[in-house]
Amino acid sequence: MIKTNWHTHTKRCGHATGEDEEYVLAAIQGDLKTLGFSDHAAYPTPQPYERMDISEVPDYISSIRSLQEKYKDQIRIHLGMEVEYYPEQWETLSEYRRTLDYLILGQHNVYFDRVSVYSINDGDTLHRYVDMLEKACERNLCDYIAHPDVALYRYQRLDGSVRECAARIADISLKYNMPLELNAGSGVQRGMYQFADGPRYPYPTRVFFEEFARKKCPVIIGLDVHDPRRFLDDTALNRALSVISDLDCYVLEDFDLVKAAEKRKKEFR
Ligand SMILES: [Zn+2]
Ligand SMILES: [Zn+2]
Repeated sequence: MIKTNWHTHTKRCGHATGEDEEYVLAAIQGDLKTLGFSDHAAYPTPQPYERMDISEVPDYISSIRSLQEKYKDQIRIHLGMEVEYYPEQWETLSEYRRTLDYLILGQHNVYFDRVSVYSINDGDTLHRYVDMLEKACERNLCDYIAHPDVALYRYQRLDGSVRECAARIADISLKYNMPLELNAGSGVQRGMYQFADGPRYPYPTRVFFEEFARKKCPVIIGLDVHDPRRFLDDTALNRALSVISDLDCYVLEDFDLVKAAEKRKKEFR
């Protein structure tokens, strides 16, 4: 098991299980040294996906902060969120940027109220998804890009546009020194899917990581945990690693995302 995980949810999102403290105890048992909570960001209205209600944010903050204190001799706990680049939600996002230790970018809709990344199957829309990642980095909204390949979830053929988008994301990563996540969450947990051009995991996707490896982009492994038991089971992690097994990826281990966030926050706009 890895020693650092920045991608952890809580049951507030509606599709995770277990109490906050159970995540901490399982992480300690799994011998993690750093545990970052990054539950799905809440927005005032409407709510594009399963996520906590905005009224639950204070409880999320106080619960994780008190666990941080309670277990400080056993594990470093940090408080973040998984946000999207939604310019119309900038006031809310600014507040999260200011008050939380770090933010990861998990773009689940291309636009706030439409175009789910789980529905994309054409090159133009895939490019619009990458546009949003680029804008988020430009404005220093985030400290790493979670599952950069999530938009391939229903993409039937790994065509030229997929390569182009992988290359664009790699260039964004280099330009902004932005780590890209190898996600060991639901994309591998559910097993391989049959796509029009053959079987593969919905994500992570090898084509993307070929490009990331070629350009030496920084990669961080994220478990995307929605169940505390995941800290005690390497199955999904090993599947994600199998996708990049013979690639020379530049994987950052135990990277201090909070320190990186302190710098980026000053450039946030
Ligand atoms: Zn989730
Ligand atoms: Zn997540």
